[in-house]
Amino acid sequence: MPRSNRPKNGKGRREEPAELNLDVALRGVKHTLVKRGVEYTVQTSSGANAEDDKQWICPHCNMVIVKGVVHIVAFDTHRGVATRRHFHNACWASWQGSLL
Ligand SMILES: [Zn+2]
Repeated sequence: MPRSNRPKNGKGRREEPAELNLDVALRGVKHTLVKRGVEYTVQTSSGANAEDDKQWICPHCNMVIVKGVVHIVAFDTHRGVATRRHFHNACWASWQGSLL
């Protein structure tokens, strides 16, 4: 009896999975978003590569974002990274203010 694990006629052949871009996966996908007429550059952060005692205050709820928590990093695209702030994911979604 022939031993073969190969499917006949190419049936069952799996599609090659799209190559996982680790760099993008780790650093998050950067995109832009407009809130109240201001364009923001938005990126998700895993918070994992933060310095040991690094923590951020979310401008929406004024609560600390602890290290290792996936969150949003956003800055005013035109004013640049000096306006960058860290938000909880849910806070970013409901935040309608402006960056200082
Ligand atoms: Zn928050």
